[in-house]
Amino acid sequence: MRMSKLLMPTLREVPAEAEITSHKLMLRAGLIRKLAAGIYSYLPLGLRSLKKVEQIVREEMDRAGAQELLMAALLPAEAYQASGRWEVFGPSMFKLKDRGERDFCLGPTHEEIFTQTVIDNVRSYKEYPMTLYQIQTKYRDEGRPRFGLMRGREFIMKDAYSFDLDEKGLDESYKKMYEAYCRIFTRLGLDFTVVDADSGAMGGSGSQEFMVKSPVGEDGIAYCDDCGYAANYEKCECIPAECEQIEGDLELEKIETPNAHTIDELVSSLGMAAHNFAKTIIYKADDKYIAAMVRGDRDVNEVKLKNLVGCTDDLELAEPAVVRELTRAQVGFAGPIGLDIPVYADKEVALMKNFVVGANVTDMHYKNVNIGRDFEPDTIADIRVVVTGDKCPKCGGTIKSEQGIEVGHIFKLGTKYSEALGLKYLDESGKQQTVIMGCYGIGVTRCLAAAVEQLHDDNGIIWPVSIAPYQAIVVPANYKSEEQMAAAEKLYEELNAAGIETLIDDRSERAGVKFKDADLIGIPVRVVVGKKVGDGIVEYKERTMEKAEEIKLDEAAEKVIEFVKANL
Ligand code: ATP
Ligand code: MG
Repeated sequence: MRMSKLLMPTLREVPAEAEITSHKLMLRAGLIRKLAAGIYSYLPLGLRSLKKVEQIVREEMDRAGAQELLMAALLPAEAYQASGRWEVFGPSMFKLKDRGERDFCLGPTHEEIFTQTVIDNVRSYKEYPMTLYQIQTKYRDEGRPRFGLMRGREFIMKDAYSFDLDEKGLDESYKKMYEAYCRIFTRLGLDFTVVDADSGAMGGSGSQEFMVKSPVGEDGIAYCDDCGYAANYEKCECIPAECEQIEGDLELEKIETPNAHTIDELVSSLGMAAHNFAKTIIYKADDKYIAAMVRGDRDVNEVKLKNLVGCTDDLELAEPAVVRELTRAQVGFAGPIGLDIPVYADKEVALMKNFVVGANVTDMHYKNVNIGRDFEPDTIADIRVVVTGDKCPKCGGTIKSEQGIEVGHIFKLGTKYSEALGLKYLDESGKQQTVIMGCYGIGVTRCLAAAVEQLHDDNGIIWPVSIAPYQAIVVPANYKSEEQMAAAEKLYEELNAAGIETLIDDRSERAGVKFKDADLIGIPVRVVVGKKVGDGIVEYKERTMEKAEEIKLDEAAEKVIEFVKANL
C-alpha cells in the first residue's frame, strides 16, 4: 500500500478524552475514531489488525472442531423473556420496538438464540456433541463505556456455545476451548494468565477467565507464584489473617468521635490501628437492606456478598437518606449493635477483640466491642477483597494481587438455558434428557486494545507480526531523490511479490516525520533507503531494535521475508 493514498490520519497531540495508553495510541495512530460514547469506527489500519485478530480466532476455533455461523444482531424478545434475561440485563440491554410494537433487542450475548437454533434444527442425539460459534457485533449499554475499545457499547465478540449429552462431554468440549484460547492469545502476542472465575449469577459449575495483567484492567486477579493458583477477586477465597488485638476483658464504652466518618479520621483521632476498627456498610440487596462488616483495613467484595445474599441485582450502596433512617444517625456512624437489618460479618471480624464500631448515633462510636457479648452477626462468611500478602488458599504461600483485562471467558453453563428453553433429546433408550451447555467468549475488539496496552513504547505501538496492519514498511528517506525512490519502489515490489504485506512511504514528507509515523503505527520491520543506496547499502530496523543496522540492498528483501516468516 502506498502511504500517499492511505487514510491514516495520525495525530501529534494526545486527544483529551483518552485516559489510557492504548486508547491514546489507537486514536493517534489513526486506527479508530469515536462516533459516540463507547461506539467507534475502524479506519483502514485498525480494520486490518481487527481482521487479523478475527482470523486467528477463527482458525483456532475451527481447529478445535467448532463450526462458524452468524446470527442476527437484531433479536426478537421472546427467547430472552423465556430465560428471564429480558429483565436481568436491566439497563444494559438496548431494547427497541418495531413498527408493529413488537419487542426487540440488540444482542448483548447469544445463549438464548443459539439454544433456540439447536432446538429448531438438531433432530437426533447423534448430532451431539456440537460446538457452534460466531464472530459478531454485540451491544451493551454499559454504565461506564470507557478506555476506547476496552469497554464499548458496540463491540465485537467471538461467542461459542457447546452442546453435549452429559457432563463428561461438557468437560471435553470445555477443555478443547481452553486449549484453543491458549493458542489464540499466544498467537495474538498477549502475555496472559488464566484465572478461576466466579460462576455466581450465571449458574453453572466452572468458569475461567483469560486475563492480561495491566494496571488499567478493571478486574482484580490474585495469584500465587509458589503453586500457580490464580483466581479473580470474586472467586479467590480469603484466608482470615491474624492481627494484633486489644487484649483484656474490657467493658463496652460509647465514645465521642466528632466528625470522624472514615477509618482514616478515626485512626488519627483515636490513635488506634485501622485493623482495630470494623466498618459497617449498608447495601440495598434487591428490595431489602443488609449490613456488611469487614475489618477497617479491608474492603467488601460486593460479588461475594451478592452471591451469599442470593439477590438478583448487583448490590448498591444504600442511599444516605436510607442510612440515616436505618441507623438514626448521619452516614459514617453505622454499627451492628441495635441495627435492625441482617448483618453479614467477614470471617476476620469474628477474630477481632475489643474493637471499635459505629454507635448508630451521630458523632459516636462504641469501643471494646466483642462478638457474642455485644452483638451477634446473622452470617459470618468470607466477604472481603483479597490483598497482596494474604495466604494462598491452595498452598499457604503468599498471594499477590494485580489488575487484569478480561479478554476471554469460558464457562460451564450446565442446563440453565437448555432447561429454560426446553432443549432436550431422546437418548438411546428413548428417555428424555436435557442437553448440557457451555459458553465461551472472546472480546475481539478488546483484544486489539489489550495488545496495544501491553505492546508499546514511548514512540508508539509495537505490533506483533501476527496482527500488525502491515508487516513491513519501506521508507525512501528523501522523496526528491530519484535514486532512492526507484530503489525503494523496487524493494516494495519485491516484498509484495513475496506475499509480505508492505507499506511504502512515498509521501512528500521529511524523513523524520516518516520515521515517527512508522514507529507510531507499529510496523514490525522497516527498511530505510537513504543516501548510501548508491553504495548498495540500506538501513534495516525491527520495531523492537534499539538502532538500525546497515545491510546490503540486494539482501534486504530476503532479510525482511525471513523475519516476517519467523514471527508469524
Ligand atoms: P466485563 O466483566 O468486562 O463487563 P463480561 O464478563 O460481562 O465482561 P462476557 O459476557 O463474559 O463479558 O463477554 C465475553 C467477553 O467479551 C469478555 O471476556 C470481554 O473480553 C468482552 N467484553 C465484554 N464486555 C465488553 C465491552 N463492553 N466492550 C468490549 N469487550 C467486552
Ligand atoms: Mg465475563
